[in-house]
Amino acid sequence: MKKITLLPIAFLCLCACSTAPTEAPADLVVLGGKIITMEKTQPVVEALAARGQEIIAVGREAEIRPLIAPSTEVFDLQGAVAYPGFYDAHAHFLGIGKAGMELKLGKVDSWQEIVEKVRAAAEQAQPGEWIEGRGWHQEKWKRAPEEPFEGLPRKESLDAVAPSNPVFLTHASGHMVMVNSRALEPAGITAKTPDPAGGEIVRDGKGRLVGVLRENAIGLVRKIMPPEDSPDLLMKRIRLATDECLSKGLTSFQDAGAGLSQAGVYRRLAEEGKLRIRLNLMLMDSNEKLEGHLDEMRLIDGGDHYLTIRAIKRWLDGALGSHGAWMLEPYADLPSSTGMNTETIPDMQETARLAAEHGYQLCVHAIGDRANRETLDLYEAAFRDHPDLKDPRWRIEHAQHLTPEDLPRFTKLGVIASMQPTHCTSDGPWVPQRLGEPRAGEESYLWRSIIDSGAHVASGTDAPVEDVDPIPTFYSAVTRKMSNGRAFHPEQCMSREEALRSMTLEAAYASFQEQERGSLKVGKLADLTILTGNLLEIPEEEIPEVRVVATIVGGKIRYRSE
Ligand SMILES: [Zn+2]
Repeated sequence: MKKITLLPIAFLCLCACSTAPTEAPADLVVLGGKIITMEKTQPVVEALAARGQEIIAVGREAEIRPLIAPSTEVFDLQGAVAYPGFYDAHAHFLGIGKAGMELKLGKVDSWQEIVEKVRAAAEQAQPGEWIEGRGWHQEKWKRAPEEPFEGLPRKESLDAVAPSNPVFLTHASGHMVMVNSRALEPAGITAKTPDPAGGEIVRDGKGRLVGVLRENAIGLVRKIMPPEDSPDLLMKRIRLATDECLSKGLTSFQDAGAGLSQAGVYRRLAEEGKLRIRLNLMLMDSNEKLEGHLDEMRLIDGGDHYLTIRAIKRWLDGALGSHGAWMLEPYADLPSSTGMNTETIPDMQETARLAAEHGYQLCVHAIGDRANRETLDLYEAAFRDHPDLKDPRWRIEHAQHLTPEDLPRFTKLGVIASMQPTHCTSDGPWVPQRLGEPRAGEESYLWRSIIDSGAHVASGTDAPVEDVDPIPTFYSAVTRKMSNGRAFHPEQCMSREEALRSMTLEAAYASFQEQERGSLKVGKLADLTILTGNLLEIPEEEIPEVRVVATIVGGKIRYRSE
């Protein structure tokens, strides 16, 4: 193995390798580039060795090389940079899988391009298999469809390319779908079918079906589609989500909401050794359903450290975009509203009791400043009622808008802020319109202030709301630069070290897993993310260009770029 890059001495660990390499050879050795460990004593090393899932040595290449035997897999970084495996602290695993099964129709110039995508999908599909897509918008097309009806395309164009497959393409608004004849016929929809209440089966001037269904008419076709929780569909989604996450460099993933039945499926996969990415589930079901199952479902580092179930997810409010975030003061652009409280406080108190009594961590979705305050109040009361609770690490998911008074309570109560840096840069352009200034600047995405106050911030993406890619997360955390090039209150930026920490060690801490993940040292899991660039050193404008070279989970190379 030749080493491509010669490292300047200053970057090498100056102390001697902390490990006396043992006699038995390593299963995997990584060398030939920088390895960023996130450990204080040896922040950057030249090489790492693993046996089984575990790191057995880190240090200078000369010290690690004796561990190489003919049976050892040697991964030559060739100048690339290795990091502790990235951990998405909050995203939706099956949602990523579902998005992976749908054609993405937003970025096209014409209906004809969409038809070609459907043709390609139909060629791959089994006869009768549904082809789904999302995101089309007739106003965005530069070329009109053939024989348009009120600007809309016709189902015959889809019939021609997918005669044996039902096609279901959701409009960007979500309020309209385009289907083909193969979808209309089994739904019993003909030109004579009356419109359902609150819906429209679109017909042209001659009374012919166009293939477009609006609002409640969509349900006529949706009800004949395969159920969302069929075992085949679930397995396909899990496979697609796993592939997507590994290709983006993730080695661990916290799923922000899995039903009990889904959790059962993950448990079986973990027991059979079939998970390829480490998952940590937040259970999401009613108190009544959860109560009888919490003890049997609880699992810590099961399936050889691939599955953990010890958290419960609840929602206290909605989102800012839809004026659903529960605010203390009315919206600037909707003065009649302070948002929505989606679940009652007594119901949440019962969840808190269940969590405290069954050894679960509680993770509450709170966007608005009122929702955050109510959640902190709830946690404070629960901790008072359960003084035996040690180190509960309850979390607020998003913690998006906070008043200055509530900010110190995170540290005081030991509550973790689970945040999504890309939400700030995606939504930043319209946040001032919703909240008005100075509230927008003083209250929004305060990760700098939260870290300075001494609390823990873990980063995630909330995929599929945002891309599951951790590189934009890092870039947003350190620049807060929006697509318009401006930075959203840049005084709240994280440092590069803090951003990396929030995606590794802090995400592990937020899951009680910092002893085994989040940094690279002897005895920890050999989970590594390997990238083309050094996120701690490259010029800021180069950060978005960084790509994943490989993803290693438990000493196994689970993804390698072509
Ligand atoms: Zn979410």
